[in-house]
Amino acid sequence: MSDFDRCKICGEYDFLDKHKCPPIYYYKHDDWGDEFQKIRAWSFSGAAIAFAKLYNENGDYALMNDTIEVTISDGKIEKQFLVSAEPDIHYSADEKEASNV
Ligand SMILES: [Zn+2]
Repeated sequence: MSDFDRCKICGEYDFLDKHKCPPIYYYKHDDWGDEFQKIRAWSFSGAAIAFAKLYNENGDYALMNDTIEVTISDGKIEKQFLVSAEPDIHYSADEKEASNV
């Protein structure tokens, strides 16, 4: 039986018996200081997106319709990314109560 839960190391929800944590990358963003910080992802661009999510969620959704620069490193190579976010539109329809006109 599989154990679906949150990984205590990387924070992902997965079947823990088959789970592999994404490798560690590092991000650096000017507003957040000169030090590289750890972030887990499967690729450079994945790390840039993970940073964008983190930035947005910590900044009152400041990244909506904006683009910022981030440097991603795997410990050897550094790459620059421009990250941005767009809100999803969720449509809904509520039928109005019929009025007796
Ligand atoms: Zn993990």
